[in-house]
Amino acid sequence: MSSLLVDVQSRIAAATLQADRALEAVRLVAVSKTKPADEIRTVLIEGQRLFGENRVQEAEAKWPELRAEFPDAKVHLIGPLQTNKVKQAVALFDVIETVDRPKLARALATEMQRSDRYLDCLVQINVGEEDQKAGIAPGEADQFIALCRNELKLPVIGLMCIPPADEEPAPYFALLAKIAARNDLAEISMGMSSDFEVAIQFGATMVRVGTAIFGTRS
Ligand SMILES: *Cc1c(COP(=O)(O)O)cnc(C)c1O
Repeated sequence: MSSLLVDVQSRIAAATLQADRALEAVRLVAVSKTKPADEIRTVLIEGQRLFGENRVQEAEAKWPELRAEFPDAKVHLIGPLQTNKVKQAVALFDVIETVDRPKLARALATEMQRSDRYLDCLVQINVGEEDQKAGIAPGEADQFIALCRNELKLPVIGLMCIPPADEEPAPYFALLAKIAARNDLAEISMGMSSDFEVAIQFGATMVRVGTAIFGTRS
Protein backbone atom coordinates (compact mmCIF):
# COMPACT_ATOMS: atom_id res chain seq x y z
CA MET A 1 0.00 0.00 0.00
CA SER A 2 1.30 3.45 -0.81
CA SER A 3 1.14 5.20 2.54
CA LEU A 4 0.51 8.44 0.63
CA LEU A 5 -2.91 7.38 -0.71
CA VAL A 6 -3.95 5.97 2.67
CA ASP A 7 -2.82 9.16 4.37
CA VAL A 8 -4.87 11.34 2.02
CA GLN A 9 -7.91 9.07 2.44
CA SER A 10 -7.72 9.31 6.22
CA ARG A 11 -7.24 13.08 6.14
CA ILE A 12 -10.33 13.37 3.92
CA ALA A 13 -12.31 11.17 6.33
CA ALA A 14 -11.21 13.21 9.33
CA ALA A 15 -12.06 16.54 7.66
CA THR A 16 -15.43 15.19 6.53
CA LEU A 17 -16.35 14.02 10.03
CA GLN A 18 -15.16 17.26 11.54
CA ALA A 19 -17.42 19.16 9.12
CA ASP A 20 -20.34 16.98 10.26
CA ARG A 21 -20.77 15.59 6.78
CA ALA A 22 -21.35 12.01 5.64
CA LEU A 23 -18.17 10.14 4.67
CA GLU A 24 -19.53 9.32 1.22
CA ALA A 25 -20.29 13.01 0.56
CA VAL A 26 -16.67 13.68 -0.46
CA ARG A 27 -14.91 11.84 -3.28
CA LEU A 28 -11.21 11.85 -4.00
CA VAL A 29 -10.12 12.65 -7.56
CA ALA A 30 -6.49 11.48 -7.79
CA VAL A 31 -4.74 13.91 -10.13
CA SER A 32 -2.40 11.78 -12.23
CA LYS A 33 -1.24 14.42 -14.74
CA THR A 34 2.43 13.99 -15.79
CA LYS A 35 2.58 10.61 -14.01
CA PRO A 36 3.39 7.48 -16.07
CA ALA A 37 0.90 4.61 -16.40
CA ASP A 38 2.95 2.43 -14.03
CA GLU A 39 2.57 4.86 -11.15
CA ILE A 40 -1.14 5.25 -11.87
CA ARG A 41 -1.53 1.46 -11.96
CA THR A 42 -0.06 1.23 -8.45
CA VAL A 43 -2.77 3.56 -7.16
CA LEU A 44 -5.46 1.64 -9.11
CA ILE A 45 -4.29 -1.60 -7.51
CA GLU A 46 -4.70 0.07 -4.13
CA GLY A 47 -8.34 0.61 -4.99
CA GLN A 48 -8.54 4.22 -6.17
CA ARG A 49 -10.93 4.48 -9.15
CA LEU A 50 -11.42 8.19 -9.79
CA PHE A 51 -8.67 10.17 -11.53
CA GLY A 52 -8.08 13.62 -12.99
CA GLU A 53 -5.99 14.48 -16.04
CA ASN A 54 -5.44 17.93 -17.46
CA ARG A 55 -4.45 17.23 -21.05
CA VAL A 56 -6.40 15.34 -23.70
CA GLN A 57 -3.37 13.99 -25.53
CA GLU A 58 -1.62 12.80 -22.41
CA ALA A 59 -4.77 11.07 -21.16
CA GLU A 60 -5.22 9.41 -24.56
CA ALA A 61 -1.73 8.00 -24.35
CA LYS A 62 -2.18 6.48 -20.89
CA TRP A 63 -5.82 5.63 -20.23
CA PRO A 64 -7.03 3.21 -22.93
CA GLU A 65 -4.53 0.65 -21.61
CA LEU A 66 -5.34 1.34 -17.94
CA ARG A 67 -9.08 1.23 -18.59
CA ALA A 68 -8.72 -2.17 -20.25
CA GLU A 69 -7.23 -3.45 -16.99
CA PHE A 70 -9.58 -1.51 -14.70
CA PRO A 71 -12.90 -1.10 -16.53
CA ASP A 72 -14.55 0.71 -13.62
CA ALA A 73 -11.94 3.50 -13.50
CA LYS A 74 -13.28 6.99 -14.18
CA VAL A 75 -11.27 9.91 -15.53
CA HIS A 76 -12.19 13.57 -15.22
CA LEU A 77 -10.80 16.29 -17.46
CA ILE A 78 -9.60 19.01 -15.08
CA GLY A 79 -7.56 21.15 -17.50
CA PRO A 80 -8.48 23.66 -20.20
CA LEU A 81 -10.15 22.18 -23.29
CA GLN A 82 -9.62 23.60 -26.77
CA THR A 83 -12.62 23.32 -29.05
CA ASN A 84 -10.60 21.37 -31.63
CA LYS A 85 -10.12 18.59 -29.04
CA VAL A 86 -13.76 18.34 -27.99
CA LYS A 87 -14.43 15.24 -30.06
CA GLN A 88 -11.51 13.34 -28.50
CA ALA A 89 -12.41 14.58 -25.03
CA VAL A 90 -16.04 13.45 -25.23
CA ALA A 91 -14.93 10.02 -26.43
CA LEU A 92 -12.27 9.62 -23.73
CA PHE A 93 -13.37 11.20 -20.44
CA ASP A 94 -16.21 10.48 -18.02
CA VAL A 95 -16.66 14.01 -16.67
CA ILE A 96 -15.59 17.41 -18.04
CA GLU A 97 -14.83 19.69 -15.07
CA THR A 98 -13.71 22.69 -17.07
CA VAL A 99 -16.61 24.13 -19.06
CA ASP A 100 -15.34 27.70 -18.98
CA ARG A 101 -16.76 29.66 -21.94
CA PRO A 102 -19.81 29.73 -24.22
CA LYS A 103 -17.91 28.59 -27.31
CA LEU A 104 -16.73 25.44 -25.51
CA ALA A 105 -20.17 24.78 -24.04
CA ARG A 106 -21.69 24.93 -27.52
CA ALA A 107 -19.03 22.66 -29.00
CA LEU A 108 -19.52 20.11 -26.21
CA ALA A 109 -23.29 20.15 -26.63
CA THR A 110 -22.97 19.61 -30.39
CA GLU A 111 -20.49 16.75 -30.00
CA MET A 112 -22.49 15.03 -27.26
CA GLN A 113 -25.55 15.07 -29.48
CA ARG A 114 -23.59 13.88 -32.49
CA SER A 115 -21.96 10.99 -30.63
CA ASP A 116 -24.98 10.35 -28.38
CA ARG A 117 -22.60 10.29 -25.42
CA TYR A 118 -23.61 12.67 -22.65
CA LEU A 119 -20.90 13.43 -20.09
CA ASP A 120 -21.57 15.10 -16.79
CA CYS A 121 -20.10 18.59 -16.81
CA LEU A 122 -18.90 21.09 -14.24
CA VAL A 123 -18.72 24.80 -14.92
CA GLN A 124 -15.37 26.32 -13.99
CA ILE A 125 -15.75 29.57 -12.06
CA ASN A 126 -12.87 32.08 -11.98
CA VAL A 127 -13.53 32.82 -8.31
CA GLY A 128 -10.60 35.24 -7.96
CA GLU A 129 -11.44 37.00 -11.24
CA GLU A 130 -7.81 36.51 -12.28
CA ASP A 131 -6.89 37.54 -15.83
CA GLN A 132 -4.56 34.57 -16.31
CA LYS A 133 -7.14 32.01 -15.19
CA ALA A 134 -9.88 30.35 -17.15
CA GLY A 135 -13.45 30.31 -15.95
CA ILE A 136 -16.66 32.25 -15.78
CA ALA A 137 -16.68 35.38 -13.61
CA PRO A 138 -18.81 34.90 -10.46
CA GLY A 139 -21.17 37.68 -11.59
CA GLU A 140 -21.85 35.88 -14.88
CA ALA A 141 -22.15 32.40 -13.42
CA ASP A 142 -25.95 32.16 -13.08
CA GLN A 143 -26.52 33.28 -16.64
CA PHE A 144 -23.88 30.94 -18.04
CA ILE A 145 -25.22 27.95 -16.07
CA ALA A 146 -28.70 28.72 -17.42
CA LEU A 147 -27.36 28.85 -20.98
CA CYS A 148 -25.64 25.46 -20.55
CA ARG A 149 -28.67 23.81 -19.00
CA ASN A 150 -31.66 25.34 -20.72
CA GLU A 151 -30.46 26.23 -24.17
CA LEU A 152 -27.66 23.73 -24.75
CA LYS A 153 -29.06 20.88 -22.61
CA LEU A 154 -25.61 20.08 -21.23
CA PRO A 155 -25.73 17.75 -18.21
CA VAL A 156 -24.33 20.29 -15.74
CA ILE A 157 -23.99 18.66 -12.31
CA GLY A 158 -21.81 21.19 -10.49
CA LEU A 159 -19.06 23.76 -10.31
CA MET A 160 -15.28 23.73 -10.05
CA CYS A 161 -12.69 26.34 -9.13
CA ILE A 162 -8.99 26.96 -8.61
CA PRO A 163 -8.64 29.85 -6.14
CA PRO A 164 -5.79 32.40 -6.37
CA ALA A 165 -2.48 30.72 -5.52
CA ASP A 166 -1.18 32.85 -2.69
CA GLU A 167 -4.31 33.85 -0.84
CA GLU A 168 -6.39 32.29 1.91
CA PRO A 169 -8.70 29.94 -0.06
CA ALA A 170 -11.64 29.87 2.39
CA PRO A 171 -13.58 32.91 1.05
CA TYR A 172 -13.24 31.57 -2.50
CA PHE A 173 -14.47 28.12 -1.48
CA ALA A 174 -17.41 29.77 0.29
CA LEU A 175 -18.19 31.78 -2.85
CA LEU A 176 -18.20 28.65 -5.06
CA ALA A 177 -20.47 26.82 -2.62
CA LYS A 178 -22.86 29.77 -2.59
CA ILE A 179 -23.09 29.91 -6.39
CA ALA A 180 -23.69 26.13 -6.48
CA ALA A 181 -26.43 26.33 -3.84
CA ARG A 182 -28.39 29.11 -5.50
CA ASN A 183 -28.25 27.24 -8.82
CA ASP A 184 -29.29 23.96 -7.22
CA LEU A 185 -26.07 22.20 -8.24
CA ALA A 186 -25.00 19.26 -6.09
CA GLU A 187 -21.34 18.81 -7.05
CA ILE A 188 -18.58 21.15 -5.89
CA SER A 189 -15.05 20.36 -7.08
CA MET A 190 -12.53 22.33 -5.04
CA GLY A 191 -9.46 21.75 -2.90
CA MET A 192 -6.02 20.46 -3.91
CA SER A 193 -3.08 18.98 -1.95
CA SER A 194 -2.46 22.13 0.05
CA ASP A 195 -6.04 22.97 0.99
CA PHE A 196 -8.43 20.05 0.53
CA GLU A 197 -9.35 19.95 4.21
CA VAL A 198 -10.48 23.58 4.10
CA ALA A 199 -12.43 22.84 0.91
CA ILE A 200 -14.23 19.97 2.66
CA GLN A 201 -15.15 22.31 5.49
CA PHE A 202 -16.76 24.60 2.90
CA GLY A 203 -18.74 21.88 1.14
CA ALA A 204 -16.47 20.28 -1.48
CA THR A 205 -17.96 17.05 -2.86
CA MET A 206 -14.85 16.30 -4.94
CA VAL A 207 -11.30 17.17 -3.98
CA ARG A 208 -8.59 17.06 -6.66
CA VAL A 209 -5.36 15.85 -5.09
CA GLY A 210 -2.15 15.20 -7.03
CA THR A 211 1.10 15.87 -5.19
CA ALA A 212 -0.04 14.44 -1.84
CA ILE A 213 -0.74 11.08 -3.54
CA PHE A 214 1.86 10.83 -6.31
CA GLY A 215 4.66 13.01 -4.93
CA THR A 216 5.95 16.17 -6.60
CA ARG A 217 5.73 16.51 -10.37
CA SER A 218 8.96 17.06 -12.29
C1 LIG B 1 -2.64 19.79 -10.87
C2 LIG B 1 -4.03 20.10 -10.48
C3 LIG B 1 -4.54 19.69 -9.23
C4 LIG B 1 -3.73 18.95 -8.19
O1 LIG B 1 -2.80 19.78 -7.61
P1 LIG B 1 -1.88 19.29 -6.39
O2 LIG B 1 -1.42 20.54 -5.75
O3 LIG B 1 -0.76 18.49 -6.99
O4 LIG B 1 -2.72 18.46 -5.50
C5 LIG B 1 -5.86 19.99 -8.95
N1 LIG B 1 -6.65 20.65 -9.84
C6 LIG B 1 -6.19 21.06 -11.02
C7 LIG B 1 -7.10 21.78 -11.94
C8 LIG B 1 -4.86 20.81 -11.39
O5 LIG B 1 -4.43 21.24 -12.58
